[in-house]
Amino acid sequence: MTQTSVQPFLPFARPSIDEATIAAVGDVLRSGWLTSNGPKVQAFESLLSAYFGGRPVRTYNSGTCTMAIALRIAGIGRGDEVITTPNSWVATANVIIEVGATPVFADIDARTHNIDLDQVETAITPRTRAIIPVHMCGLPCDMDKLHALAKTHSLRVVEDAAQAIGSTWKGRRIGAFGDFASFSFQVNKNITTAEGGCLVVNNAEEAILAEKYRLQGVTRSGLDGIDVDVLGGKYNMTEIAAAIGLGQMAHLEAFNAKRLALARHYFHCFGADFEASYGAELPMADFQNSNWHMFHLVLPSHIARAAFMQQMLDRNIGLGYHYAAIHLFTLYRRRGFKIGMFPVAERVCRQIVTLPLFPSMGESDVERVVAATKAVLGSRSRSHSS
Ligand SMILES: *Cc1c(COP(=O)(O)O)cnc(C)c1O
Repeated sequence: MTQTSVQPFLPFARPSIDEATIAAVGDVLRSGWLTSNGPKVQAFESLLSAYFGGRPVRTYNSGTCTMAIALRIAGIGRGDEVITTPNSWVATANVIIEVGATPVFADIDARTHNIDLDQVETAITPRTRAIIPVHMCGLPCDMDKLHALAKTHSLRVVEDAAQAIGSTWKGRRIGAFGDFASFSFQVNKNITTAEGGCLVVNNAEEAILAEKYRLQGVTRSGLDGIDVDVLGGKYNMTEIAAAIGLGQMAHLEAFNAKRLALARHYFHCFGADFEASYGAELPMADFQNSNWHMFHLVLPSHIARAAFMQQMLDRNIGLGYHYAAIHLFTLYRRRGFKIGMFPVAERVCRQIVTLPLFPSMGESDVERVVAATKAVLGSRSRSHSS
């Protein structure tokens, strides 16, 4: 291998914030109205509602509290079971415990890495009240099958669509139909507010609860009327965050188009024989529905992921791993979950890496990542077979 000149560090994600957005944040800071429920929050919520087909949308300070609030709106708590995937950010399962319900896991599909809906069906008991599916990397779950299953068993659906803004199912936007849909605007997501999230609900009644749970359960009336009738928290979005969100929404279509083009280029550069030659698994080549939030590679089992990540880091390429299997965390093992319970998720979560993919990358960055990946995988498999 020829040692070329050191190339700049390439992270797996990086936000794109334009100068207009930076100026808008400055304007908010100068305006004196820094937090809710100011004009920016209201404009952002209106824009999001229009984006999601006119459904009611409320904004929050994370894409975690949104899921807990959806469960609370649905009246889910102690004694109830909620089924979710072990392959997600731990927030997805933590919110179930947070509201006092019991998390139940169902294994994932080996190809999509999304929850296996046949396994969900097996996991349903008389206590099951809801399903929290995750659209991993923005690749949507089978929405027809999901909602048919939910209908048959009278279950609520809280979509963890944290990664799925702009994803579609049969031409319809994720969040524009279904039951509850939760989105995150955390910094790595396809659009960001630094930290933040939004919840799409079904009707005006749920929207009122969505506001109460967001701010201490408060209802105001007139100039000095106030009452509290449910226990809420402190989850409101700031004007600063909403100003960033408005600036990001202007680019959402372009960001997602760029992600799609980069994902296509990854497939092109890896080539049709990559999986057979290197033993690694590429993601589903979905160029229809996914917003390409992330590009994953599942490494062959004989390669230690940390060693692979280190060798990529030696080439100035930063990788992520999304995610560690939730049921194997100590908190969950204490609840009785064990290794071997969800073998597909365990295998995928142990060997998965996230390659760089963000809108300000160029095609040459993709080429650099693919060349480095092949070099590291190739050299390692040679050293193992010798
Ligand atoms: C980012 C993310 C969350 C949490 O969102 P926050 O805004 O960080 O609270 C939950 N689930 C998934 C799948 C995510 O990617």
